[in-house]
Amino acid sequence: MTPATAAQPTLPPLRGRVQQAAMLAPTTWFRVGGPADWLGRPADVDDLLLLLRDKPAGIPLITIGAASNLLVRDGGVRGIVVKLARGFSDIVVEADGIVAGAAALDATVAEHAAAAGLDGLAFLSGIPGSIGGAVAMNAGAYGTEVKDVLDWAEIATPAGLVHLPASELGFAYRRARLPEGGVVVRARFHATPGDAAAIGEKMRAIRTAREETQPVRARTGGSTFKNPEGHKAWALIDAAGARGLRRGEAQVSEKHCNFLLNLGGASATDLEGLGEDVREKVRAVSGVSLEWEIKRIGESLA
Ligand SMILES: Cc1cc2nc3c(=O)[nH]c(=O)nc-3n(C[C@H](O)[C@H](O)[C@H](O)COP(=O)(O)OP(=O)(O)OC[C@H]3O[C@@H](n4cnc5c(N)ncnc54)[C@H](O)[C@@H]3O)c2cc1C
Repeated sequence: MTPATAAQPTLPPLRGRVQQAAMLAPTTWFRVGGPADWLGRPADVDDLLLLLRDKPAGIPLITIGAASNLLVRDGGVRGIVVKLARGFSDIVVEADGIVAGAAALDATVAEHAAAAGLDGLAFLSGIPGSIGGAVAMNAGAYGTEVKDVLDWAEIATPAGLVHLPASELGFAYRRARLPEGGVVVRARFHATPGDAAAIGEKMRAIRTAREETQPVRARTGGSTFKNPEGHKAWALIDAAGARGLRRGEAQVSEKHCNFLLNLGGASATDLEGLGEDVREKVRAVSGVSLEWEIKRIGESLA
């Protein structure tokens, strides 16, 4: 007789791809982190809605985009990690704006806008995330944030698809208030007619400035800490003497000290521990308590 085993919860039958015990590290910018119990890539909005509605009760679900602002802990993520892929990457150019799927990359949206002579979205060209992540994080650069250019977002929820104007998304600095369990699937950004060559030039300048000031080709997670009111996080970190600080193979970037780097063999524990070392030093020197901007998900290894 075989021993009785606890029944494994099963997910609704998706048309998209579902992997069990899927390693997340290769999908993240930091290249660290343990496995997700399930990694689901719904085929399209209907597939996603089915998953949200019929997933087993009590199983958590989190959505990731390009994972450019994400630290997945080494013990991995319990429950379902949803990654939007091909069925969510359409970009439609309109006369005065762009409608983009949540999986479209910010830079690709900026390129479409520039090619169509639409001005106002060049700031997206230097942000390496997806549109879903940009809405969820109210991403911004060079004085413009998503909240300034977003008309509406379409959000899949367990109760169905909702269409919300930007004014109902509770935007704040690097934060949006999405409906409970909501997954951004599409968004519209307004833009104004402009000169394609001039916009292209603006984007080139942004990329050059980024290359010079940020470790854009490294294994990193973007800005680690939010800028506290009236301060720049990088300046506080620099003043605390933490530029270049290391913990194992994790290092505070010499180029931009609000970025953490995985030099190759760092674990999520090293990176998170280094971040905490930095917070401690900043608190000791300036009295300011830095708040993580990077989203940390999952469990530490026991
Ligand atoms: C080199 C570098 C430079 C960067 N520069 C900038 C910058 O100038 N400005 C800036 O704002 N950020 C910057 N970032 C950070 C990052 O690119 C942005 O926060 C980006 O918007 C995150 O998008 P993502 O798709 O990678 O989201 P992820 O990192 O995958 O996720 C971030 C958060 O968004 C949520 N999320 C993702 N997709 C969805 C969705 N479809 N529905 C609901 N929630 C979702 C996740 O659950 C998570 O909470 C930089 C990062 C790097 C590595």
